[in-house]
Amino acid sequence: MKRQRNKDAYEDPVCGMEISRKTALDEFSYHGKTYYFCAGTCREAFEAEPEKYLRQHRQHGVRPK
Ligand SMILES: [Zn+2]
Repeated sequence: MKRQRNKDAYEDPVCGMEISRKTALDEFSYHGKTYYFCAGTCREAFEAEPEKYLRQHRQHGVRPK
């Protein structure tokens, strides 16, 4: 069981999944900070509405079109 929290652990702001720089599939720089994402679709969702996800980052980014 891996439950360590080190500085290499990031939270995907879109879906809330915990990822590391190694497992992150995509990244995006916003306001001088780099965010890591589990998938390109999460990065795209964040890129479209970053403020939304930074305010309520516990929600899944899945929503009906
Ligand atoms: Zn994600």
